[in-house]
Amino acid sequence: ASLLAAVLLGVLGLGLVWLNTRYGTLAEAHRKAREALERRDRLAAMGELASTVAHEIRNPLNAIAMSAQRLQREAFAAAEADEEHRALVGVIRQEADRINARVQQFVTFARPPALQPSVVSLGPWLEGIVAALAPSAALKPVALSLDVARAGQAGIDAEQLRQAVENLVRNAIDATPAGGRIEVAALSSRDGHRISVGDTGAGIAPDVLPRIFDLYFTTKREGTGVGLAVSQQIVAAHHGRLEVESEPGAGATFTIVLPHMP
Ligand code: ADP
Repeated sequence: ASLLAAVLLGVLGLGLVWLNTRYGTLAEAHRKAREALERRDRLAAMGELASTVAHEIRNPLNAIAMSAQRLQREAFAAAEADEEHRALVGVIRQEADRINARVQQFVTFARPPALQPSVVSLGPWLEGIVAALAPSAALKPVALSLDVARAGQAGIDAEQLRQAVENLVRNAIDATPAGGRIEVAALSSRDGHRISVGDTGAGIAPDVLPRIFDLYFTTKREGTGVGLAVSQQIVAAHHGRLEVESEPGAGATFTIVLPHMP
């Protein structure tokens, strides 16, 4: 009888361990889902704010640009016009154009264009993207490699998703010091497709990690903080997820996880 009790206890113990592991996996999945939802809420709120602010900025901005243009044409066009004043009006126009471009970016983010999906062979498509970025990688220089041996075909908006992948590779190039490596890979399976961009760069500090997908969040001196927010938006439009894993000091890997299109 005591043998039976021992065996039963053993089984019970193993069962508990198993349950505990399952619970851990579930809790982890739940945490990830909640984070994704919060991120989506934040993005939606930012998008709404974006279109309101854009609207408020555009009218006065146009007035400024038009006035500068008239000054340039009428007051400062003559040969005797003061060179310095002419340059100043030029700056006003140039900066107004720059703000306008930013506002445009903002509005596109707030109202992203609809997807135009088609069936794309991920291998050749990624080859084209990587080839276009090879010169930037060579400038550093960092090694840029591509593994598409197990890439299949996917229903995607090739133009929009290209932009997302390009943003990831550009970030990887920015983060990786000379002599480092960047690996782009695509893997298709029964579950869908995974397109990953891994680098051996600086990685992402834990306190920075929760904010990197926020619009306008940047740690770069010349950064805009638009890239990851837009990439995430494009991936979400494909019903996918943009995942990130990072080991500070050792590098980061961003993965676009796409389901099969219904
Ligand atoms: P930007 O490139 O203009 O800063 P992004 O939205 O593309 O805007 O990126 C936001 C921030 O995320 C970056 O400033 C950087 O801190 C971090 N980041 C993105 N990709 C990487 C990467 N591969 N390695 C390290 N940090 C990264």
